[in-house]
Amino acid sequence: MISAIWDNLKGLYSLLVGMCITARYFFAPRKTVHYPRKVVDPEDLAAYRGPLELTRGKDDESRTRCISCQMCAKGCPGNCITVVKGAEGKLPSTWLYDFSLCCLCGACVEVCPAAAIDFSHRLYLVTTTREELVMDLLADLKSRAAAGPLKPEAGAPEALEAGGGAAAAAALAEAVKSSKAAAGAAGSAVRKEG
Ligand code: SF4
Ligand code: SF4
Repeated sequence: MISAIWDNLKGLYSLLVGMCITARYFFAPRKTVHYPRKVVDPEDLAAYRGPLELTRGKDDESRTRCISCQMCAKGCPGNCITVVKGAEGKLPSTWLYDFSLCCLCGACVEVCPAAAIDFSHRLYLVTTTREELVMDLLADLKSRAAAGPLKPEAGAPEALEAGGGAAAAAALAEAVKSSKAAAGAAGSAVRKEG
């Protein structure tokens, strides 16, 4: 009899603890927003990892800090990055990023010796094709610099630029083709020397 009463009291106590937790979260400020009527406060996006973007140059904001060292591309587990060095110094002529393959691990950001890449806070991206997730980050950097200083995210979904992803995907295929051709030429040169 006493043990049955004791069990009931323990059950009641457990129920009260659960109800207190529920009540605390019920009245706590809401963490989610009722999109699209409301959007996330930009301050809450500080730790959010959106697709990669090139950081702006110190003197010229439309110029990348990238020195084409390839560290990010070599360390990327998803093979998402294609960087091709251009004719002008160390600057890249192509910087392509396939967001559809990216697991947002951050290895590329950590390894970059020039702090040339970082995660964007672009939250409202929409697309209907995978090709549009291949992003030309040099073009993106130029358009952001042309738009002026960084502004907080607007609430409307950001459609990926029509044709931009397809063009970037075509450029990616071209870059891969040329690098394979270059590797093939290097291989045959080595074979000839041998
Ligand atoms: S975040 Fe990770 S998966 Fe994405 S591009 Fe960088 S290294 Fe690759
Ligand atoms: S690691 Fe940095 S500097 Fe090197 S290619 Fe990648 S973005 Fe450019």
